[in-house]
Amino acid sequence: MCRGSAVLKGQLLRSLTSADMFTRMLKLRLLNAVAPAYFFMATAVTFILHFCFFIPTIFPNKDTSLRGSATLHTVVFLFLMFNALGNYIMTIKYPAESANETVVPVCSAHCSDKVDAHYLLNGRHFCKLCKKVILKRDHHCFFTGNCIGNKNMRYFIMFCIYTSCTCLYSLVLGVAFLTVEYSISFENPLTFLTLLPLSTGYFFTGTISGLQLFLVLMLYVWLGIGLVCAGFCCQQVLLVAWGQTWCQMQRGQLVDNRSPWRTNLKDVFGTRWILGLILPVQTVETCSEDTDAHKQE
Ligand SMILES: [Zn+2]
Repeated sequence: MCRGSAVLKGQLLRSLTSADMFTRMLKLRLLNAVAPAYFFMATAVTFILHFCFFIPTIFPNKDTSLRGSATLHTVVFLFLMFNALGNYIMTIKYPAESANETVVPVCSAHCSDKVDAHYLLNGRHFCKLCKKVILKRDHHCFFTGNCIGNKNMRYFIMFCIYTSCTCLYSLVLGVAFLTVEYSISFENPLTFLTLLPLSTGYFFTGTISGLQLFLVLMLYVWLGIGLVCAGFCCQQVLLVAWGQTWCQMQRGQLVDNRSPWRTNLKDVFGTRWILGLILPVQTVETCSEDTDAHKQE
């Protein structure tokens, strides 16, 4: 009787765990579909606001003395945008997956791994979202919809840097636009804190237009993304310099990496890393497949 209830309890627990895993996986899959859509929408909105509102209002066409500044701002914006989108494409174009391993590994009974990936040997992971074996996996990026590993880490870091710059630059232009168009003064540092609650209140009382509220919201979105990307990028650069990955850190398995930080950085950023800082190009000589895995074997 007692054994029967214990078996039942075990079965119930197992089905609960698998149901829980299923919902968590479903959430991750949903996020994997929503995040790229959000990224493209935010990019399109930033583009439209910049060219249809910011530049024409801050630098009016009739004022010829401002034409040079307008061109300069447009060039800077396009350069940042080009690098952000270029590195985004490169992150997807050069995936970190292993081309040799096409067999889906079966999870062992003692698998203590997370919902999205199984740890394999030699720093390889099987990503359940990508359904591929990833070499030296760092994490799964929901915005690019693929895994970040040693091969595409350099593009991912550059993507973070340029996304952060584009957002913070758009924030500055947005503030200039609100100052010119709606005479909002940002001299008081507290203005930024009170802007959103006040604007929301004014919108519902009909004092300001929907566009103005949307612009104010975008300022906070840009600030948020800009700061998050900058912080994330710093963390990634530090991990690369230490020769570690986010996966290892989360598992509490930081390896004892004795290579100097210069070697670790060069491993990821390549010999032509300076070119990679200003253009979304390949900076590492195409090496043979799975060298990292073989090195450790
Ligand atoms: Zn993945």
